[in-house]
Amino acid sequence: MDESIPDGKQEMMQSGHEPRTECIRCGQCCLNSSPTLQKEDARLVLEGRIPRDALYTVRVGELVHDPVEGRSGIAAKEMIKLKERGQRGGCVFYDAEERACRIYPSRPSQCAALACWDLSAFMRVYEGAKAQRTDVIEDPTLLRLMAEHEERCNYEEIAHWVWAIEEQGEKAVKELLNLLRFDHDLRPLAARRLNLDAACMDLLFGRPLVETIGMFGLEVKREAGGAFLLTALPRDRRAEGGSGARKPPARI
Ligand code: SF4
Ligand code: SF4
Repeated sequence: MDESIPDGKQEMMQSGHEPRTECIRCGQCCLNSSPTLQKEDARLVLEGRIPRDALYTVRVGELVHDPVEGRSGIAAKEMIKLKERGQRGGCVFYDAEERACRIYPSRPSQCAALACWDLSAFMRVYEGAKAQRTDVIEDPTLLRLMAEHEERCNYEEIAHWVWAIEEQGEKAVKELLNLLRFDHDLRPLAARRLNLDAACMDLLFGRPLVETIGMFGLEVKREAGGAFLLTALPRDRRAEGGSGARKPPARI
């Protein structure tokens, strides 16, 4: 193993395990992770070639795994990713039976540049500017709603109240629950009012806070009447690279 190459790149280069000079369509690169959209990929979404319901946003301050560096950390910049295939992992557009990409002619630029035996073209694309929500959403009503959500439910605000739990107790927990509830209730409301597919909400507002709150070592439980209850995650379920309630996590 070459120790000068980050773990994630080693993994990408070793996909399929055999040294090679051409693609054998083993599908390992599509099964390892899903791509992030670069700026130049925004047109694929605007033209409807990649549907909005197949995307999600990683918001600034959110815990994310970087497959290239092979580590998890806090997103310093917003990014848009293709959704993953649930427990099976890998990109949502990978057809395992056919061993093929279901959007091949419209695949994102990271995919088009990837050759697991030589990552130089991929790295040139990867190091370019990433697409953000404002690159793929043009509707002024949606843009306003996204900005309002971001102002209220940004991760800096969430982190502030998480770290305040120790000193402020109930008050901080109450503020957090208000933010979690707002994020949770806004999604079906926006989908209904604006006649949008509910699956598009992860692109518009990022992943639900009731899920991502796990990065702070916390968990939301629902009580019988529907009320939210905030509890600490057991130590063995805390995410790698996340933080407990006391210290800010590292940024990537
Ligand atoms: S580029 Fe992807 S599909 Fe092609 S050989 Fe490498 S890992 Fe397999
Ligand atoms: S978009 Fe296609 S090529 Fe890219 S990771 Fe997904 S299945 Fe693979």
